[in-house]
Amino acid sequence: MSDLHCNSVSPLFSEETIKQRVREIGQQISEDYAGVTSDSPLSLIVTLKGAFMFAADLVRSITVPCCIDFIHASSYGSGKTSSGNVSIRHNLNVTGHHLLLVEDIVDTGLTLQQISAELMAMQPASLNICTLLDKPEARKYPVNVAYSGFTVPNAFIVGYGIDFNERYRELPFIGVL
Ligand code: 5GP
Repeated sequence: MSDLHCNSVSPLFSEETIKQRVREIGQQISEDYAGVTSDSPLSLIVTLKGAFMFAADLVRSITVPCCIDFIHASSYGSGKTSSGNVSIRHNLNVTGHHLLLVEDIVDTGLTLQQISAELMAMQPASLNICTLLDKPEARKYPVNVAYSGFTVPNAFIVGYGIDFNERYRELPFIGVL
């Protein structure tokens, strides 16, 4: 990693801080879903690409039976501003499943509102939202978040899976670009 690469990102949460918080969320989820069984496991629906790293760590902190699937969502064209149009791609059949939607950042709330509506139309047994980061100041569409890692300011965040034009995903920490 070049110095220039790191210098352009002001750290917000260190690798250690993230690890600890992800472990806590995993424990909370495991307690809340203690009733799920191997026949009817918890389904983590992970939004790509931003939540891939969070989900990989989170799933290793969850101790109840679970399975993982992916949904591709993008609202950002190129650059730092949302296009306002959410493109959602998936091949899921979640009828009757207990769903936990795993997201990287809730910003305006539009992406999660649209994904939730699509999933709810398939009549899951339940649906909850888990986000690594929440930007409450940017909210325009109400979203009911059950699990949130950290509250962040209304700034452009990168690292730990979260990109700017496909860069910075590999950073082990989270920061402001
Ligand atoms: P929303 O639909 O809630 O406005 O935006 C959600 C999506 O926009 C997130 O899943 C993420 O992909 C992207 N996003 C929102 N805020 C940021 C940010 O600060 N940095 C990056 N890299 N992406 C963001």
